[in-house]
Amino acid sequence: MGIDPRQMSPAARLEHLLELGDGNCAWCGFDLSKPNARPTRDHIVPKVKGGPTRLENEVASCGSCNGKRGNDSPSQYIESSRRDRGLDPNAELVADQLDRLNDAIARDGGMRKIRDYVTREAKRVRELIEPAR
Ligand SMILES: [Zn+2]
Repeated sequence: MGIDPRQMSPAARLEHLLELGDGNCAWCGFDLSKPNARPTRDHIVPKVKGGPTRLENEVASCGSCNGKRGNDSPSQYIESSRRDRGLDPNAELVADQLDRLNDAIARDGGMRKIRDYVTREAKRVRELIEPAR
């Protein structure tokens, strides 16, 4: 990325996250380019758990999933979305973002409060990726 992500406008951040997720909600797969879509930036590690507002900790999400998820961990929400709503969350994207967040922690330091959470969730979400059919 050419510019410091922290200098990006909210619109540019959302644009980047939409590209990363192929234009779909990370949790339910809804096409966020549709006129009735409400694309949002969802924190993978929730803010109340200490999750930072940085690109590695965000995915594009529809407003509905962002609200429904609340403070569920990413692995919990992937499991309950599959089990209770028959959805097909993009576990691979979430796992990739958690790996990027882990790299950012190793590179930049800090974020002590979330280190264990990120390591644990990266592993759990990775285990939830369905084998290619
Ligand atoms: Zn959704």
